[in-house]
Amino acid sequence: MSADCIFCKIIKGDIPSKKVYEDDDVIAFHDIHPITRVHFLIVPKLHIESLQTCEAQHQALLGKILLLAPKLAAEQGLKGFRTMINTGREGGQEVFHVHVHVFGGGESLPRI
Ligand code: 5GP
Ligand code: ZN
Repeated sequence: MSADCIFCKIIKGDIPSKKVYEDDDVIAFHDIHPITRVHFLIVPKLHIESLQTCEAQHQALLGKILLLAPKLAAEQGLKGFRTMINTGREGGQEVFHVHVHVFGGGESLPRI
């Protein structure tokens, strides 16, 4: 828990979010600025800044998040989706609480 972290505030319920999923370890909610018809974020409840500060002890948590992605995407009606983990400022990360973007819907996503 980090006092000035926006995702910690969402996890605590201090900032509202459109929740997709929640359990003891993880929360998933719709991105406030979706880039596709469906765009949600899977976030561990543990405050870890980024993939660069993840350690061996977080292996199971990271695996759990990845395995949730196809399950939650299917529940949102997606037949395929893209995942993205922006890491560090150079990687385009804006919120320094590690999270996986899951997005898709509509036409095929462009190749990158
Ligand atoms: P990143 O750190 O990977 O660049 O992206 C952070 C994402 O969090 C952005 O896509 C942004 O739209 C989303 N975001 C930032 N603040 C909020 C918020 O208060 N609520 C929700 N639902 N999403 C947010
Ligand atoms: Zn946090």
